[in-house]
Amino acid sequence: MDSVDLAPASRTYIGKTFRFRKFVIAPDAEPDAEPMSFSAECAVCNEHGPEEEISDQALAWIERHLKRNPEHLTTGSGSRGR
Ligand SMILES: [Zn+2]
Repeated sequence: MDSVDLAPASRTYIGKTFRFRKFVIAPDAEPDAEPMSFSAECAVCNEHGPEEEISDQALAWIERHLKRNPEHLTTGSGSRGR
């Protein structure tokens, strides 16, 4: 599928005018930015690990959780409706 050019500042559909704006999502690098944190959550039981400032530390919780709850391993193609 070709990309859609949203360059015109606004377009009107069914009597409603929409204004399109470009934006970028990025980490806040300002000196007063809140620290970024990461946390993992189990999709089966919704338990979540501690918030960590390093993503690898947050991901380590997954391994510990699966050792305690091996039945919480899913194939990712089940009841979540994706
Ligand atoms: Zn779980």
